[in-house]
Amino acid sequence: MKLIEFLADASSRLEKKGITSSRLDAEVITARTLGIERYRLITDSNRELSGKEITDLEKLICRRLEFEPVAYITGVKEFYAIEFIVTKDVLIPRPETELLVDMAIYWAPMHGAVLDLCAGSGAIAVALKKSRPDLALTAADISGLALEIAKENSEKILGHEKITFLHGDLFSPVKGKVFDLIVSNPPYVDIELKGTLQKELEYEPANALYCEDGGRGVIARIIEGAGVHLADDGVLLLEIGSDQRAFVEEHGAAHGYSVSILNDYAGFPRVATLKKN
Ligand code: GLN
Repeated sequence: MKLIEFLADASSRLEKKGITSSRLDAEVITARTLGIERYRLITDSNRELSGKEITDLEKLICRRLEFEPVAYITGVKEFYAIEFIVTKDVLIPRPETELLVDMAIYWAPMHGAVLDLCAGSGAIAVALKKSRPDLALTAADISGLALEIAKENSEKILGHEKITFLHGDLFSPVKGKVFDLIVSNPPYVDIELKGTLQKELEYEPANALYCEDGGRGVIARIIEGAGVHLADDGVLLLEIGSDQRAFVEEHGAAHGYSVSILNDYAGFPRVATLKKN
């Protein structure tokens, strides 16, 4: 079977399953598995695939047909123009979260201390440290398995021990510590919606996506707990759900912050900046 025939067949099967990015997904999976860049799928489209290549590719396409996200199939996801290792133990970094990194780069003072809460794969902390090597980064997560991936990413992308990783629930591992900036992409999807959204989400760690109180539970706890860990002119940056704007504005103001909300490039409220008054 020629490469061009395999790709046509795989993307048509994915399309029939209702996967809208069928061609792209087939190409990304195929290029990664063959160890070539995507453009080579065009330039080498008449190349004959070996029996082993077809078997290997077929297994992966079958996983995608079961709605497993491409990033878990390939084991990597690009975020902030950096390739991160991802496994089912971490949320797949989303493009809209790049805005949170932009804002962190903007707000963090020179040589400031920064905390990334709910660090997951380490995408935010690593991308931030790569852009701003002057910063002292601490990354914390409740999941020990996620922290292992974050450490691997940090080691691979930044080198040895550039970030301090701590294990525990929200602020519990940073008792007594103060930061100039706290950044977080916490779980904020309403737990009541679990099982009703895209099938791909069912592969991601539930504790990284969903939480109680209409998805506000963890955001509320971060706003309530951040005060003692922020320097006097410190800033808290939170990724939020598009319907959480009013809640974050009110809860932030009630805890002594001036709050402003930035929309993502799709036009949805996404990054909340809470400045300590
Ligand atoms: N933006 C993600 C999604 O909707 C949610 C990420 C999160 O809960 N932090 O899939």
